[in-house]
Amino acid sequence: MKNRYDTIIVGAGPAGMTAAIYIEEGRGKWKEKPSHSSPARYNRAGRTLLLEKDDRVGRKILVTGNGRCNITNLDQKPEYYRSDAPGKAWSIFLQFNETQILALMKKLGILTKDRQGYVYPYNDQASTVREAFEKYLQSFPGLSIRTGHRVKRLKWDPASKLFEVKTASEGEIQSFFAPTVIIATGGFAGVPAGAGGDGFRFAGKAGHSLVPPEPALTSLCSRAPFLKKLAGVRCRAAVTLLVGDEAVYKEEGEVQWTDYGISGVVVFSLSRFAVRALKEKKQVSVSLDLMPDLSKNQLFHLLKEFRDNCGYKDGPALLNGLLSSRLSPVILREARIKENCKGGDWNDEDIRRLVEAVKGFILRIHDHKSYEKAQVTMGGVPLDELTDRLESVFLPGLFFAGEVVDVDGTCGGYNLSWAFASGKAAGMGVKHRLMDHCK
Ligand SMILES: Cc1cc2nc3c(=O)[nH]c(=O)nc-3n(C[C@H](O)[C@H](O)[C@H](O)COP(=O)(O)OP(=O)(O)OC[C@H]3O[C@@H](n4cnc5c(N)ncnc54)[C@H](O)[C@@H]3O)c2cc1C
Repeated sequence: MKNRYDTIIVGAGPAGMTAAIYIEEGRGKWKEKPSHSSPARYNRAGRTLLLEKDDRVGRKILVTGNGRCNITNLDQKPEYYRSDAPGKAWSIFLQFNETQILALMKKLGILTKDRQGYVYPYNDQASTVREAFEKYLQSFPGLSIRTGHRVKRLKWDPASKLFEVKTASEGEIQSFFAPTVIIATGGFAGVPAGAGGDGFRFAGKAGHSLVPPEPALTSLCSRAPFLKKLAGVRCRAAVTLLVGDEAVYKEEGEVQWTDYGISGVVVFSLSRFAVRALKEKKQVSVSLDLMPDLSKNQLFHLLKEFRDNCGYKDGPALLNGLLSSRLSPVILREARIKENCKGGDWNDEDIRRLVEAVKGFILRIHDHKSYEKAQVTMGGVPLDELTDRLESVFLPGLFFAGEVVDVDGTCGGYNLSWAFASGKAAGMGVKHRLMDHCK
């Protein structure tokens, strides 16, 4: 049969490429031990097709980590992998954890370094990672890579027990056939509007439900009038996400103020919870503790000392050294203290309000940045509709890997970690299914 493969992988991102590696490496191993037993047939008949709509594989890797590619992280915890089935996400990650990811990088010839646990290629160039994957994939004789091929349709034919995968390439429609398919098409994040989401469509056609996809690891927008004055300010803060009055997430780190709201790693980390709450039309705000190293009591006494020793200074001058000079006037206004009022005129009640403003500055959030500015898509194919090897429970032979699955990592290399781990799980799943077929 023309265009008949053992496996077709749709999407050559980190997930699809890792899946291809583990399918093809398996073949290599079987080759080393030729025998007439069933697994050898899997080897000889074996051919994998990797289809990518872009003109090269792994393009998105180039923009990761600001062009440096944060490959993984040495600090791993279950809560860094968010999903409606978080336990299952974690157990799949554990089958291919950060140590194994680092071993894969070494095998690909990528020297890595870690900065406080955050792992990058040694030369800080994301292109190294993309190219290493590409070269390694090209070294497998059983793997065909076709770029510029967008998969438009996926159909299961029960009579032939094959999937038909229809692609469009420069106006030409082609069909490819295989008993196993891996959907690794990523999500909507970081791609131009309207360009992503094919994998979600294929999943729906195969009978899967979807945890509603939404942008995650994104910035939050506020209508607060003072933001224009704060654009560009960076400060350390402990940020608590409030949904109504309930504190749902807290993290400490650098906050970047922009003319539309707040951004930065710490904001990215909590954004998925804010996005969901906004979608549910709940009231969302963040409470910023702008001096997390001091307790309220310590700050109260420090400000009293400042007042007593330096009462000749006005508010902004008194706060100079504690807060960014552009933040101080905003905080003073929040505490209802006039900017030109000398510190010596502050009473204890003024100082108490100031402490509250510094350690519990409330910013009302009304929106979030969209997919184009987000780093990942939350939601996707529910894990409870997939086996531990990420095979569809509705349509055996159909696998999913990477961002298309309902798992989104927090900031710090966790999304690539998930892409590699889920890619390996699906690749191994395909290999086992093909071996079963050969028995
Ligand atoms: C700006 C930015 C920075 C990031 N930085 C980091 C970071 O430093 N560390 C980290 O861990 N994560 C980072 N991420 C997230 C990470 O890049 C993704 O989570 C990861 O790439 C997902 O891998 P994937 O293989 O599932 O999907 P993708 O990387 O999106 O790959 C999917 C592939 O499928 C192809 N495709 C889609 N539809 C079709 C179709 N119909 N037919 C054929 N091909 C198709 C796409 O062209 C694409 O090549 C970042 C994301 C962005 C946007």
